[in-house]
Amino acid sequence: MRNDTYDIIIVGAGPTGATCAKILADNGLSVLVVEKCKLPRYKSCSGMIIAKTAGLVKEYFDVEIPDGVKCTPYDNYGMVFVNDDGKEYKFEQRGFNVWRSEFDNFLLSKAKESGAEVIDGVSVIGCEDLGDCVEVTLSDRDMGKKRVKYLIDCEGAMGVLKRKLLNCDKDFIVTYQAFYDGKINLDPHYFYAYLQPQFSEYDAWFNVKDGMLVLGVAAERNSISKIKEYNDNFIKYMQSDHGLKIDKKIKEEKWIMPHIRRDFNIDYGNGRVFFAGEVAGFLNPMGEGISCGMESGYHLAKAISENLKAPQKILTAYQQYTTDLKAYMQRQWNLVSIMSKR
Ligand SMILES: Cc1cc2nc3c(=O)[nH]c(=O)nc-3n(C[C@H](O)[C@H](O)[C@H](O)COP(=O)(O)OP(=O)(O)OC[C@H]3O[C@@H](n4cnc5c(N)ncnc54)[C@H](O)[C@@H]3O)c2cc1C
Repeated sequence: MRNDTYDIIIVGAGPTGATCAKILADNGLSVLVVEKCKLPRYKSCSGMIIAKTAGLVKEYFDVEIPDGVKCTPYDNYGMVFVNDDGKEYKFEQRGFNVWRSEFDNFLLSKAKESGAEVIDGVSVIGCEDLGDCVEVTLSDRDMGKKRVKYLIDCEGAMGVLKRKLLNCDKDFIVTYQAFYDGKINLDPHYFYAYLQPQFSEYDAWFNVKDGMLVLGVAAERNSISKIKEYNDNFIKYMQSDHGLKIDKKIKEEKWIMPHIRRDFNIDYGNGRVFFAGEVAGFLNPMGEGISCGMESGYHLAKAISENLKAPQKILTAYQQYTTDLKAYMQRQWNLVSIMSKR
């Protein structure tokens, strides 16, 4: 039977929201996760679980990632970067290859086991910080408005709620990836990222999922019309330099990702409304966002659990706990900037 009162509402059932929900529930707080999509929800993603992410799953959820959420090849051996001038850099690191719908749903199931409640197919469409609580408006009128101690926004890239709250503009890039039947002379155990400007304003990528070849490109939202040109250039390059042969296009998808800037600014939130994960700005260069989503969600949950009655202390603790994460993101940037001039 669903509770009608909660300490905390979490917006979004991605890895950030699931981690946050699990830790809060483990600390005895009543938590409702509100997910606008029907679960398990689809998320366009390369599904690369780096070693750090696998370690966080073990640390926060006390489980190994099960084979049931993985796709072939199960093991990822690392990343190969090709810079603006075509120079190759190989980073060996053991990780996994997953389907996001299964992986995210697995994390959420662990949060539920800890006592978090989840509703899907319902959006958080607004909230008002009333000082001693937050009034949250849900898209389902029958559920009415809910008053909680804190609202945690983990809504991911689009950030509709955040933009409403902060009255800020969208700042994102558009990703396009297509899945093909075919052949290529590249090792399917690696994730390949190409930084040449003729393929993308960001990076172009190649990886393999359950036998399908996945090729993707990205563009700033103002030059979305160039996606086709970038993709055509990238396919031609992969055909000429890596023996790509396409038998059939299986599916294609466009998505968005926040514009990752080197001088990343994190929006932590304030009062009784906090942000975590991608919507807060926690995202590594090259778009690796699962680990920093989970880590920021964990730190925010810890800060709230330790300072439940003191919103200002929560903010200070959250900022302090994420200092190492920000330093890690900065080191990732430094590494990428050694490889690429752009
Ligand atoms: C093409 C592509 C490839 C990527 N590849 C990788 C990769 O290989 N490895 C990696 O680590 N990262 C990758 N990323 C980044 C990664 O997907 C994100 O950083 C990560 O999903 C962020 O997690 P999150 O929980 O913060 O947000 P999300 O996973 O986006 O979850 C947010 C959830 O909130 C829900 N939501 C939004 N608004 C509302 C609302 N108002 N009410 C209720 N629910 C709402 C959404 O439906 C969604 O389920 C990739 C991204 C893209 C676009």
